[in-house]
Amino acid sequence: MEECIFCKIAQHQTPADILYEDDLVIVFKDIKPSAPIHLLITTKEHIKSVNQLQAKHQKLIARMVLTAKKMAAEQKTDHSGYKLLFNVGRGGGQLVDHLHLHLLGGGDLRG
Ligand code: AMP
Ligand code: ZN
Repeated sequence: MEECIFCKIAQHQTPADILYEDDLVIVFKDIKPSAPIHLLITTKEHIKSVNQLQAKHQKLIARMVLTAKKMAAEQKTDHSGYKLLFNVGRGGGQLVDHLHLHLLGGGDLRG
């Protein structure tokens, strides 16, 4: 997956503002934030989208959500509130074909 920008970030082959990583996931700041806090929780493994997820990915999915929760607390947006978002497919607004969970927070995101 040489052409995949998120694989390149996960392999430290291209720069990103990385806030956390472990064996399964990596978290970095969105380059074009649409909220005061906009992080991407991404998998180290190349998976195209939620459409490709299978039962074997349960641990990975749990890690993504729990990491998002931890990052929200670290960024101090856990009490004011935040959004977690998967865009799936072009019609769903997905532009990067590598699974990622958006964490949007740091302000009032209603409406
Ligand atoms: P999506 O539309 O759900 O595929 O979201 C892709 C997100 O990745 C967008 O919010 C982009 O701003 C962000 N993005 C694209 N390239 C990079 C990059 N090199 N570093 C950080 N974020 C990126
Ligand atoms: Zn990839």
